Amino acid sequence: MHKWFGQFHVLKALNLEVTRGERIVICGPSGSGKSTFIRCLNHLEAHQRGRIAVDGIELNEDVKNIETVRREVGMVFQHFNLFPHLTVLENCVLAPIWVRKTPRRKAEAAAMKYLERVKIPEQAGKYPGQLSGGQQQRVAIARSLCMNPKIMLFDEPTSALDPEMIKEVLDTMIELAESGMTMLCVTHEMGFAKTVADRVIFMDAGEIVEQAPPSEFFSNPREPRTRQFLEQIL
Ligand code: ADP
Ligand code: MG
Repeated sequence: MHKWFGQFHVLKALNLEVTRGERIVICGPSGSGKSTFIRCLNHLEAHQRGRIAVDGIELNEDVKNIETVRREVGMVFQHFNLFPHLTVLENCVLAPIWVRKTPRRKAEAAAMKYLERVKIPEQAGKYPGQLSGGQQQRVAIARSLCMNPKIMLFDEPTSALDPEMIKEVLDTMIELAESGMTMLCVTHEMGFAKTVADRVIFMDAGEIVEQAPPSEFFSNPREPRTRQFLEQIL
């Protein structure tokens, strides 16, 4: 697929197929198009050429398709994007109740299950502003899981966190990966990539420059641009 912002060709002939259950880590320098790419996968950004399909549903201008895909795709952002005026539990049940039409009791029971999974059930009645960054990000992950997504997208989920909170979020993501979730993660946490990724993808200047399993990617990068990037971050 291709994408332009006006005259600027931001994504150039990206070609990627992700299999159910696969865990992909995307890395690359700032401005290389990583966020734009994953935002295209749930049509937060429109692409102009090529084809994007999620579980067989093509993303085009058809609003029905966009709605269907968004219901199946969970997304976690750098800055959590929780609703500040709603409690943790209300953040979690909002979409299941209004989008999936799940009865409130059932939605709340499911939300508590996911809050337990991310190890913060005791925070259910608090507001996001009363939680640490790491806790807020775990709420954001639990909130996404409440919609039973088929795939989870992460855009630098730990890069706004203080160092001591990064691990708790990565541990949550590792558990999610181990549960079999299909995941596409933009992150520079290379320890995470080595632990869970099936494939690491390196993007630069709107292109996929190189992709390989982590063992190969880190020990034997082929492209000079990949090597240069790894030297800077490792
Ligand atoms: P990354 O996530 O890899 O840092 P982005 O996808 O955020 O990169 O940005 C890729 C390029 O597209 C950058 O040059 C950025 O300035 C540009 N860009 C991002 N969003 C917009 C936008 N809404 N309009 C115009 N240019 C944009
Ligand atoms: Mg980005």
